Amino acid sequence: MLDASSVVTLIESAPLRASAAISLLLLGATAGLLNLCIVRRHSRHLAAETAKALVPGKPRYVEPPENALAPLVVALNDGFAQADASIQSALNQVRELQIQLKVSNGQRKQAEAIIYSINDAVLVTDAFDEVLLANDSAAKVLGAELRSLDRKPLEAITSDRQLVQLIREIRLSRNTSERRVLEHRVRRAGRESVYKVTLSCIGEPGQEPTGVVAVLHDMTRENEIARMKNDFVSSVSHELRTPLASIRAYIEMLIDGEAADDKTRSDFYEIIQNEANRLGRLIDNILNISRIESGLVEIKKEPLSLMVLIKDALGVITPQARGKSITLEEQLDPAYYQVFGDRDMIYQSIMNLMSNAVKYTRDGGTVTVRTSVDEVEKKVTFRVIDTGVGIPAKDLPFVFDKFYRVEANKSVAKGTGLGLSLVKNMIETVHRGRVFVESEVGRGSCFGFTLDLHP
Ligand code: ADP
Repeated sequence: MLDASSVVTLIESAPLRASAAISLLLLGATAGLLNLCIVRRHSRHLAAETAKALVPGKPRYVEPPENALAPLVVALNDGFAQADASIQSALNQVRELQIQLKVSNGQRKQAEAIIYSINDAVLVTDAFDEVLLANDSAAKVLGAELRSLDRKPLEAITSDRQLVQLIREIRLSRNTSERRVLEHRVRRAGRESVYKVTLSCIGEPGQEPTGVVAVLHDMTRENEIARMKNDFVSSVSHELRTPLASIRAYIEMLIDGEAADDKTRSDFYEIIQNEANRLGRLIDNILNISRIESGLVEIKKEPLSLMVLIKDALGVITPQARGKSITLEEQLDPAYYQVFGDRDMIYQSIMNLMSNAVKYTRDGGTVTVRTSVDEVEKKVTFRVIDTGVGIPAKDLPFVFDKFYRVEANKSVAKGTGLGLSLVKNMIETVHRGRVFVESEVGRGSCFGFTLDLHP
């Protein structure tokens, strides 16, 4: 083969320049032809070797031939080695990404499980105010189906414009470190619920928020309890003050000598005694209720015969009923059934219902005491049915509330409005039973409770 220096020598030796040029071309062409033949022969072999090396899973290596193609094959092998290294590193990256994806999927599932198990409503929205994540409680607050929330614009799924506005406002505030806590009221189906809403932005500090997390804690019950506590304290003070004021007034009259004769003095003493007794009853009832509600009362549960307790109570109430010419009727299930409960509490519950029936039934009426057993449900029901004054429908939902007295019946009998509340606490809180009432003004009432049978 001609090398570059011999070509230069040939070209430079004039006058043979023209013929040398022709010779050079001829030589070059001959050498090229020769080379082409060798390359062709070897390239066929090389192509076959390369094809073998490209079979997937085989090492990419072609044995360099001992000819002019050797550098090319070496370069090819280098290329293969580099490509293999790149493929390996890409595969490693894919594997790493797959692991990361698995981990983040697991973490997402864990976060979702936590969010779904939270009682508070949790709502996560993105930078376009579309729902990214919401739990059951959030769906309830929004008044929508949980399934229909995913990736939907908040505006399209709830009519609660104020909440949508609050979420938008905090997102637009662009303050990722900000956390807003505010009270939010939702009125649905005639009921108002109060929520403590905590709003925070998602995102890197100093950058535009990528979304908002809203947590809504239902405060309705807590507010109600706080209001009930206040009402209870003011009712207790009011109820205690009335007999106390009466006792004070009569004692003052006695001190001032306003009771001139023995008869008046004895009347005054009797009034003072009655009021003091009422005060005592009130305090006992209040203490009993609050002890049961706070779980401080000592409860001694044992297998009891409801029938025996009812009979005992009937014995005590009979003189009172007879005094008003009220007929007491017994319709008791003859079978000997037992309940598992606290004797004093069940007895007091029976007594309270019976004495109310006699109290709120006019002379000559009838009070029926009935028990019935549901063998399938394994429950026993106790009912006291009277032909008394009855209770207006509007008062019925409240008769078991503390201090609730039916306005229309206040003139019929004196009371504290605590008896039924105590019964409800003793039956429902302590014995997991259920109290009920049915009544019609002028026709009478049916009060009762249901307890589980003792196996
Ligand atoms: P009270 O000490 O006022 O009787 P309760 O809690 O026992 O308190 O009863 C609450 C109210 O329910 C009573 O004030 C009364 O108006 C009404 N009530 C209870 N039992 C009867 C009944 N059998 N018939 C009519 N009204 C009743």
